[in-house]
Amino acid sequence: MPWRLATEFRFDAAHRIDDYDGPCGRLHGHGYRVRLELEAARLRPSAHLPKPEMVADFKTLRWAKRDRDQGGLDHQLLNEQPGLAGTTAEQIASYLHAETLRRLRSALPPGDSGDDFKLTVTVWETEESCCAYWE
Ligand SMILES: [Zn+2]
Repeated sequence: MPWRLATEFRFDAAHRIDDYDGPCGRLHGHGYRVRLELEAARLRPSAHLPKPEMVADFKTLRWAKRDRDQGGLDHQLLNEQPGLAGTTAEQIASYLHAETLRRLRSALPPGDSGDDFKLTVTVWETEESCCAYWE
């Protein structure tokens, strides 16, 4: 893949890990840090640029940074997030992977499936601990 975009952002959210025997089972919050790396074989237009000159628009990649009321995850209770099966760092990374690819592919022109996209999502729950997910 000749191109790799990377972007990082933060969002604040609350969660509890259901059935966890310990403090993570109680409601608490994190300042999550997220890194998205998107590789692609070709350049494409975006919603803001009609010519095929981008892997993807950074705005599209950074959707989760937005407030809950604008469709992101900031200041969300993650246990109430539709489509998120659980709230471990592993499950958040896998959810961000699937949802980001869905959003990227839904914006592509007809006939372009986005099958060359390779996305890696890393989620830091604390400064010291993170989980990466890719396929
Ligand atoms: Zn936690």
